[in-house]
Amino acid sequence: MPRSPHPARPAPWPHTKEQHTMEHHIVAEMTEPGGSTLKEWHMVRTGQSVSMCGRDLDMNQSQLPSDAWGTEQARPFCHTCGALFLREVP
Ligand SMILES: [Zn+2]
Repeated sequence: MPRSPHPARPAPWPHTKEQHTMEHHIVAEMTEPGGSTLKEWHMVRTGQSVSMCGRDLDMNQSQLPSDAWGTEQARPFCHTCGALFLREVP
């Protein structure tokens, strides 16, 4: 069996970290830690626990998919997060 100089191995994919579409979701901020009164919703990049406006959020709070942005379900929504999200999503 001849040895091939270029074995047909699947090449490792070096650029998997670079994604074109950034994933987001929406996380609720309560008026007080552990409280049940919603203050406003923030946009968070998936995998982070800090909102796009820089707020530390409790990831155990209610969450919504990023699709819910702009709907009644995600109101009131943080103005800073909304503006930043608009710039990040085409
Ligand atoms: Zn925010």
